[in-house]
Amino acid sequence: MCGIIGYTGEDQALPVLLKGLRALEYRGYDSAGIALCGGNGITTVKAKGRIDLLEEKLKISPPEPSFCGIGHTRWATHGAPSDLNAHPHSTENLSLVHNGIIENYAEVEAMLKGFGYTFVSETDTEAAAKLVDHFYKITCDPVKSVFSATGFLRGSFAFGVIFRDVPGKIYAVRRDSPLIVARCNHGSLIASDIPAILPYTKKYFRLPEDTVAVIDEKSTEFFGRDGKKLSLPEETVDWSVSEAQKSGYPHFMLKEICEEPEALRKTVGARLVDSLPDFKDIIDRIPERIHIVACGTAMHAGLIGKTLIEMFARVPTEVCIASEFRYRDPILHGNELVLLLSQSGETADTLAALRHAKAAGVPTLAIVNVIGSSVAREADRVLYTLAGPEIAVASTKAYSVQCACLALMAIDLALKNGRMTEKEARGLTETLLTSVPEAVGKVIGMSEKIKVLANEFTDTEHLFYIGRGIDCDLCAEGSLKLKEISYIHSEAYAAGELKHGTISLVTDRVPVVAVMTDRSLAGKTLSGVREVKSRGAHLLVLTTDGVKESLGAPIPCDKTITVPEIGCEDCPYLARLLTLFPAVTALQLFAYHAAADRGLDVDKPRNLAKSVTVE
Ligand code: GLU
Repeated sequence: MCGIIGYTGEDQALPVLLKGLRALEYRGYDSAGIALCGGNGITTVKAKGRIDLLEEKLKISPPEPSFCGIGHTRWATHGAPSDLNAHPHSTENLSLVHNGIIENYAEVEAMLKGFGYTFVSETDTEAAAKLVDHFYKITCDPVKSVFSATGFLRGSFAFGVIFRDVPGKIYAVRRDSPLIVARCNHGSLIASDIPAILPYTKKYFRLPEDTVAVIDEKSTEFFGRDGKKLSLPEETVDWSVSEAQKSGYPHFMLKEICEEPEALRKTVGARLVDSLPDFKDIIDRIPERIHIVACGTAMHAGLIGKTLIEMFARVPTEVCIASEFRYRDPILHGNELVLLLSQSGETADTLAALRHAKAAGVPTLAIVNVIGSSVAREADRVLYTLAGPEIAVASTKAYSVQCACLALMAIDLALKNGRMTEKEARGLTETLLTSVPEAVGKVIGMSEKIKVLANEFTDTEHLFYIGRGIDCDLCAEGSLKLKEISYIHSEAYAAGELKHGTISLVTDRVPVVAVMTDRSLAGKTLSGVREVKSRGAHLLVLTTDGVKESLGAPIPCDKTITVPEIGCEDCPYLARLLTLFPAVTALQLFAYHAAADRGLDVDKPRNLAKSVTVE
């Protein structure tokens, strides 16, 4: 969500800023802007819409050459996307970019109006820029003015600031929103995320909260609130530039779906000792209850986790939307576990839920993909998924590996509480490591066939996904994927629930996707399928040969996607639940092709942001 980039050094700043903004585009934005420090003070150029429009403006009236500047892609929270509301926000002394939300901006504005400030934009950020300006006028010291302002502000923020009187230096600070600092051959950088610095360096500093970074051509320095210089450990990016590039794929989303088999093998393989899950370092006893807390796709992985943990290990598990968790006064006990899922580890709602759980004295475990991210650092324990960077806004491989971790955890808990024999556990673990990625690979091989089916839905406006049990969990994710990127309105329903009201919406213009991968429930889902078919729905069924055989009668549908059924001799019933992996890949490809066929910006869907760093 929102991208910040800043560069100061020997090279022209503008190309570095624009390249950085492009590398951060995946985070989602609706306007962009830059500010450059030059001999004539600070020049700011901003444009509503895509970075292309900003570039056009810059071509029409090129700013004077500058070696220091900041850039921003804004994901509007306060005020519509517009040139005026776009960042940077400036005063006579400074220019500032912001990621996050200033909660007490109205109070700050009122106070500053008392000092004669006027406000022109609808943003919360303008109050922050003018507050720093206010303190700068008093202290004449950039670091002190930034600290004084942040001491006053409530909410979440990452700021990059340049001062007219201090050309060549960029100041940065953060609270709850991510920001990194890096040195490269010809200068220094600040950025919201690693892809923006990767063309220049693989080394970076993670800016701690309540620390001001001061960067210039030659150095990066960090100061604590007491004014003392801090020395921070330099970290190294563990992935390559090519991992953050499309590498010949038309979209990141397709590339990332195709990376699922490898991501699954890596994530599962990293957790095995003697062919069994090794969770010694993260789960020392069986929790009385598990609360899975997450948002969006990760929450849907949580639904899968609940099903698997309860089926395999019979440990009561609840799933809660992170943005609701702390406001519902959850009943939490010290012998329970709060399990947080987040791809980026920066999701503001999940971070807030984590802090709530910690304050309540409940052990916390985070499953995250980004090493050293806020959720990873603050949780008591962390389990990393090894999906590699996920750039497309719609999450795919990160969901699959979250499900894989939860499946491993379900096996581990089942073994610990005697619900599963070691032989069964070994069989299931081996299945996760080998048969599951293989089956996912086979579904990826079916991409062209799924494309043809998806293209039939290009003109659809509304669609239902129906399924039972774990298939219902899959429907939730399949439906979300379709909504996110194709803008086709869809809803996921328990197959037996549709008839209790919503079936009134089913007509011959409202297609239905029925997910039927669980043999034990397919017969029951079939009733729902017949109900919608008799109301004229165009029906696509996602199923397996095993399900078709077990039903004994043909499924009354228009089209079928048949995915491989997962099997394991030692534990056949539970292994079949793992068919969820190839099934979700098929649903992801279906959504992808539907959106691509509509000619949409698949990787950057409207209004969405990759890592939602505001509450
Ligand atoms: N809240 C700020 C605004 O609406 C910043 C949003 C962002 O993080 O991009 O301008």
